[in-house]
Order: sequence, then structure tokens, then C-alpha cells
Amino acid sequence: MNNKYLYIETFGCQMNVHDSEQMAVLLADIGYRLTDDPAKAELILINTCSIREKAEQKAFSELGRLMKLKEGNPDLIIGFAGCLAQHWGAKVYKRVKNVDLVFGTHNIHRLPEMVAAVQEERKKITQIDFYSEIHSLNIFAPPPKGSLSSFVSIMQGCDNYCAYCVVPYLRGREMSREPENIIDEIRKLTQCGVKEVTLLGQNVNSYGKNLEHGCDFVSLITKVNNVEGIERIRFTTSHPKDLSDGLINAFAELPKLCEHIHLPVQSGSNRILKRMNRGYTAEEYVEKVERLRAVCPGISITSDIIVGFPGETSKDYQETIDMMEKIRFDSLFSFKYSERKGTAAQALQGKVPEAEKRQRLKDLQVLQDRHTQEKNTALEGCVQEVLVEGPSRNSAQDVTGRTRSWKIVNFKGSPALIGKKVLVKISRGYLHSLRGEME
Ligand code: SAM
Ligand code: SF4
Repeated sequence: MNNKYLYIETFGCQMNVHDSEQMAVLLADIGYRLTDDPAKAELILINTCSIREKAEQKAFSELGRLMKLKEGNPDLIIGFAGCLAQHWGAKVYKRVKNVDLVFGTHNIHRLPEMVAAVQEERKKITQIDFYSEIHSLNIFAPPPKGSLSSFVSIMQGCDNYCAYCVVPYLRGREMSREPENIIDEIRKLTQCGVKEVTLLGQNVNSYGKNLEHGCDFVSLITKVNNVEGIERIRFTTSHPKDLSDGLINAFAELPKLCEHIHLPVQSGSNRILKRMNRGYTAEEYVEKVERLRAVCPGISITSDIIVGFPGETSKDYQETIDMMEKIRFDSLFSFKYSERKGTAAQALQGKVPEAEKRQRLKDLQVLQDRHTQEKNTALEGCVQEVLVEGPSRNSAQDVTGRTRSWKIVNFKGSPALIGKKVLVKISRGYLHSLRGEME
């Protein structure tokens, strides 16, 4: 068996991080050990993201940088994976000649076989087929030692075709994992010490659509709620159009389900939501948020917003700002619209100039910072349950953890508290974290 080093560089979302973990597990079986030094590696994989142009540029420039290592080490194997690899296929070799391996998002399970073929035959391998079964999501990747929290993919792909988004083209049709496989993985995670799971999918609310025996998302989280050893459940991402009353009620009914939902709105303008093909109106979105808050007072609501989508006028933008003022998100991921090849939005008229997009984004972020700060200040004096995750980065006397509502709290405490749930009285709310004292 080999005893070689593997270096993986991951770009983009949590789904990619999870895919990289699975790659590492598969390659461990053929003798590759992870290193964080690319110069030491015999195999380098770059797991890419293509959601926005900036991510694409970063991945290619990193590939170019790492290719230089081949000059001193001609046996080094370099592989290009993920959404960009899916999109570019064999055309990657035209852009960066000496890449050995290009494989797409459905081909992770074939990695050992592909690496062996490159090693033995020194030929280029390109594998970007889509399959109608889930392969790689069922590979168990043990969490890093000491992890209290872990992501669990419950589905792959997406069928929503939002006009701006490449995911349905690059990750394929939506497919859900069998609930037994998911619960089995969560049980194994608890045996490794994990207490909190985040169920992961592009649209978790439509989980189960393609399953023969019928298990929807609420039934799935109810099963997770019954797993001994699991103390907290989270999920991401929820599509507003599929957010059911059943799921809203689950926040009141399932004790382990944490009081936080990431519910991307994308825009506050009905005209733009329609052009984006999101399938809900601003009024319907606000109504769902109101129901969530009625069922679960204090629930934290976070979101994604895109500014400068083709055709977005200053009136549409103002409607997004009005929506933010009305809802007051706990925090927000906000992006300038980035045109992606092959998406419906590429053909839309009314491109917004870059400078205008930049200004809209900046103004929106200033407003969100004000809301986040106000929300965090409002928690001063309240007692929060914190799962202690580790020592604080800022002070050796402090530990850090998260509230059920997903906010970071730092407080004085010994490392013996790590892994425990404790009550902390919040003394100060900052923009990015809270400060408190143990009760
Ligand atoms: N499936 C999730 C959903 O529907 O909310 C999110 C998927 S995507 C990885 C995360 C976020 O990236 C989206 O919510 C959207 O705000 C943003 N995004 C996707 N495509 C984009 C594009 N072409 N330009 C700018 N932002 C984009
Ligand atoms: Fe992309 Fe829309 Fe699917 Fe989310 S729901 S992954 S934004 S197509």
C-alpha cells in the first residue's frame, strides 16, 4: 500500500467542505494521509466553487500557483474537482495544461480508481458523468477529533432553477438520501462525540420528494430528534416557497431543534423575485417570517440577498431595503449579482453597472450591520444556553460557544467546560459576537 501525502484545497460552501472530507476518507483507504503543506504532497486536489465569478477566478489562480510545484516534482498528481470541474470538463487542460485529473460533483466515489489509473498509466482522466443514484453522500467521513458539531448531507442537487444559479446544472437533479442512511450516519457521529448536527441540502424543505416510502423533512428531523446523544439540530438551506406549516410548528414541538432558520429571500421586490424564478412574493415571505416568530418567539432569522440582478431599478432595490427594515434579520449574506454562463439570467436585459451594484451592496451592508448590532445589544441581560466548543481565540482565560440561535458567545471559563451546555448571562452585544458570564 502507498504511504503518501494528500493536500486538499477547498473553495466555496459547506457542501464542498463535506465533499472534501469524503475525498480524504476514500483516499485514506489507498494510503494517502492528509497534510496541510502542499509542497510535501504527492497528490493535490482543488475542490472548486462556481457560484460567483470571483470564486472561479480564485480557484484557477490557486491551480496555477500549485502547478509550479510540478516543476520540482514531476510525479506530483494534481486533480481539479467540484462545480468548476463539472462545468469545464476536459477544457480545463486547455487552460492549465498539466492537470492530471478532472472530476465532477457526482464522481467522488470513483476517486481511488481514477487516482490509481493516473498513477499507473500517467494518462489524463476526466470524469464528469451524472448518475441517477446517490453514491458519495453515503460515504462516512469521521469528524475531526474533538468535534462537537458536524454537517450531514441529506440530499444532493437542486430542481429549482433560480434564474441566476448554476447549482442545478453542476450538481444535478435533486435526490434525497434514504432516512435510514442518514440516521445511521448521525448515530456513528454521536459515537465520535458529536452533539450537534446541521442537516445540509440546497433546499432541505423538499427533502423526500423522490423517496419511494415517503419521508418528508419534518418526519426526518423528528427521527433525528429521537437519536440519543444528539442535543442540537440545525438545518440549511430552507427555500421560502417550500417552508411548510409543519416545519414552522416543529420549532415549537421538537426540543432539540434550535431556534434559527436561514431563509434566503434574495430580493424584496416582487418584480425581481419573479424574474429570479423564486416562486414566492415578498408578502408571502414576510407572512412566513411572522408565523415563525409567532410559533417560536426569539427565533433568529438569517438570509441571503443578491443586489443588482438584471433589471433591478432603484425602486426594486428600495423594496429590498424596506423588507430588511420590516424583518430585521439577525445576520445576512449579501452578494453582487454575478453573471453565470448557461443560466436564464444571462439572457436578461437591464444589466446593472458594476459601480451601482457595489454602492447598493455597501449601503445594504451598513444597514444590516446596524440591525445585527441592535439585535445583539437587545440580548444584554438575557440568559442563553451555550454549547461550549473550545478555547476562545482572544484570551486563554475564555471559552467560546454558540447559542441555540447561532450567535457566538465568549465568556470566562475553564477548558473543562468544552462539550458542555451551560447558561450564560449576556453582558455585551458586539457586531460579530456576544460577551457573557456563566450563571
Ligand atoms: N440553495 C440555497 C438557496 O436557494 O437559498 C443557496 C445556494 S447558493 C450556494 C448560496 C447563495 O449564493 C444564494 O442564496 C444566492 O444568494 C447566492 N448566489 C447564487 N448564485 C449567485 C449569482 N449568480 N450571483 C450572486 N449571488 C449568487
Ligand atoms: Fe440555486 Fe435556487 Fe437551487 Fe438555491 S434553490 S441552489 S439558489 S437554484
